[in-house]
This record gives sequence, C-alpha cells and structure tokens, in this order.
Amino acid sequence: MKILLLGSTGSIGTSACRCIRRYPDRFELVGLAAHSNLEKLSEQVEEFHPPYVCISDVATASRAAERLTGVTLFKGAEGLVQIVRHADYDLLLNALVGGVGLAPTVAALKRRKKVALANKESLVIGGTIIGNLVSEGFGKLIPVDSEHSALLQCRNGENRESIESIILTASGGPFKDLPAERFAAITPEDALSHPTWNMGSKITIDSATLINKGFEIIEAHHLFDLPFEKIRVWIHPQSVIHSFIEYHDGAVMAQMGVPDMELPIQYALSYPERLPIQEKRMNLAKIGKLEFSNPDYQRFPCLQLAVDAGKAGGTMPTVLNAANEVAVQLFLEKRIKFTTIADIISQQLDQHENQKADFLETILEVDQQTRNAVLKNNS
Ligand code: NDP
Ligand code: MG
Repeated sequence: MKILLLGSTGSIGTSACRCIRRYPDRFELVGLAAHSNLEKLSEQVEEFHPPYVCISDVATASRAAERLTGVTLFKGAEGLVQIVRHADYDLLLNALVGGVGLAPTVAALKRRKKVALANKESLVIGGTIIGNLVSEGFGKLIPVDSEHSALLQCRNGENRESIESIILTASGGPFKDLPAERFAAITPEDALSHPTWNMGSKITIDSATLINKGFEIIEAHHLFDLPFEKIRVWIHPQSVIHSFIEYHDGAVMAQMGVPDMELPIQYALSYPERLPIQEKRMNLAKIGKLEFSNPDYQRFPCLQLAVDAGKAGGTMPTVLNAANEVAVQLFLEKRIKFTTIADIISQQLDQHENQKADFLETILEVDQQTRNAVLKNNS
C-alpha cells in the first residue's frame, strides 16, 4: 500500500515510520511532508526514497532544494494541498498539527482516498464538510487518535442503533490533582511533562488543559454520528483502557493496551486487518488497579468551552481551535499564564457571530480572523 505521510517529523510521524519500517513488503512511503525540521526530513528521504516531498515552512523550503535532490518538492501551506492532489498514493496519513491539516484532509477525500486521521483539528473545525464528503461516498476516514481507534475496535460488527453511549477515557494530565489556586503558576515545563503519553508540545498542553478531551468529544460526534449527550468522559490515570462503548442491552465493550501510539497508527494503516507487533504487551497484574472518576469542569474550563462550542456547531469550533492554537503558542513562549488560555478562548467565542461551516473558505477565513484577533489583543 502506498502511503503519503504529512507531518512525518513529528511524534505521530516518526511512530508511523516505525510501523512502515516493520512491514516493508506491505507499506511503501511515497510522499513526506514536514514544516521546519529539515534534518529529520532529509534522513527520512534518504531512508524511504519517496518521489514526493513537501516543506511547508517557506524559509526552510528555500534551504532544502540542494539537500533534497531527485524528488518533486512542494513548498508552503499550499504545497500541502498540492502534494495531496498530485502524489500517487492509496492512503493519506495526516499527522500534521493544527487547523492547517483541514485543507489536505478535504483534498484527499475529494480524490476518494483513504485518510488515516491523527490531525484531530481537521474534524474539530471541518467536521461538517468531512462528514458530508464521507457520507456521499468520497473517500474513507480511519481514526488514529487512540480513543477513536478504540471506539472503532469496540464497534466492530455492531449496529450504530444499538449504541447507548460512548465513554472516552482521559489520563487527566499532569494537573489532575492540583488545587485550583495553583493553576495560575503552572509553567510550560510543568505542563509539558505528561504522565503517560509522549507527544508533540501542542497536544501535550492541550492534554494539560483537557481541551484535548473536548476536541475528542467533537471528533467522536462526527466520526460516529452520535449526539453530544451520548458522549461522556472518565478520567482514567493508568491510560490502558482507551475508551468504551455501552450498548443498549447494558453490555460495555472496552479496548485495552499499552499507551503507545504505534498500536492505533499501525491498525489504521492495516485496517481492517491486524498485523503483529511483538514488543508491546500490557500486564494488568503488574498495573494492579484501574481507577476512574468524572472530570472536574471547574478546574478545567477548556473542557466545558469545547463541549459548548461543539454543541453550538457552525464556526464556533473553528474559533475554539484557532484561539487555542495561538494561546498555547503564547503560553509556550511564556507570554501568558496557563489560566489565560481558557480566558482567551472564552473571549473569542463570546464575541463570535456563529456561521454555517459548510464551506472550507468560511472556515479558513474565521480561523485567520480569530488568530489575528488573539495576537492583536496579546501583543
Ligand atoms: P508534533 O508537534 O510532534 O508534529 C507535528 C508535525 O506537523 C511535524 O511534522 C511538524 O513539522 C508539522 N507541522 C508543525 N507545524 C506545522 C505547520 N504550521 N504547517 C505544516 N506542518 C506543521 O505533533 P504530534 O505528532 O504530537 O501530533 C500530530 C497530530 O496528531 C495532532 O493533531 C495531534 O493532536 C494528533 N495526535 C497526536 C498524538 C500523539 O501521541 N502525539 C495522539 C493523538 C493525536 P516540523 O517538525 O518539521 O516542524
Ligand atoms: Mg487521544
């Protein structure tokens, strides 16, 4: 199977390369895209010899021409869409971070390709467009996010009508037990040390504020076509149950495994088949006990903001995501406090006039306006 991998230099991208390396007779990398990590991208090009490459950071792209010879090179954010439109592949693995992932996802579906989606922001902001394309028979979507991969596995062979509810699990992040009065003093270093998952910096901060779980609720709503009322969250610090489906006869299916993204990534690549991974085994006797509790919406206001924006629909999730992306960047640069992330998002949502989100252009325009507004207010 020919794979186009966007975001190849990131945490998901490099785990995906390990899966592809594990099954060289099955998987062939025919295209790679990265933003600014030319060093890692060059190593990947040398190893996998893909005919198509994209570098979305324009300054990096201009330095790359002499290092990357013998490939068709696309540049800039437009290059991400061009590589999706021109490369010859069977499956797009979208492992970009942020709203920039939406246009490539849409472009691949329009070509009726399979899309393995790690880039959850695509679904958060473009769920309506993506949902329409998939239901009209354009392409297929396979979730990579561990919770949604778990749901797909719990769903196997069952009717959608018999689903009573779904429960997404969340590790709770590093501040699960931190008293409310200490949140304002949280530093980027504190927030970047996630207890169970090793991920890129943006999603690690999103996990610390719990907005990540809110994004995943919106993602589940679109992927499984379920109302928000049927989607719940449980904090589960051990991170070995990746989610549950409760059926209308009271049966509950859970999918379990070590917290390692190679499992859901490889499953998305080989779906519906399973391929062996020898070295990843869960030992419940060693873990001893599994805990579950309800999330605290007071200490983690971003979770509630995401649920509310998801329920409102239209362009509200676009505002949620764009405000969050800029706020997270400002926090990582130590320009705002941890607690200001929620304030910024809330302020942008409050002043936004909701619109239908049926067109890519509308979403991209609202996305840009929100980013500009947050940057202006915090410069
Ligand atoms: P990383 O930050 O580790 O990697 C992001 C990738 O996207 C890198 O290849 C990076 O390029 C590229 N990139 C960054 N900014 C831009 C941009 N402006 N334009 C184009 N490309 C860009 O992220 P993760 O791998 O952690 O996450 C990727 C996606 O997967 C996210 O949507 C995340 O929410 C989701 N996800 C991640 C999980 C994880 O365990 N990491 C788990 C579940 C979902 P470069 O490095 O060259 O600058
Ligand atoms: Mg997840």
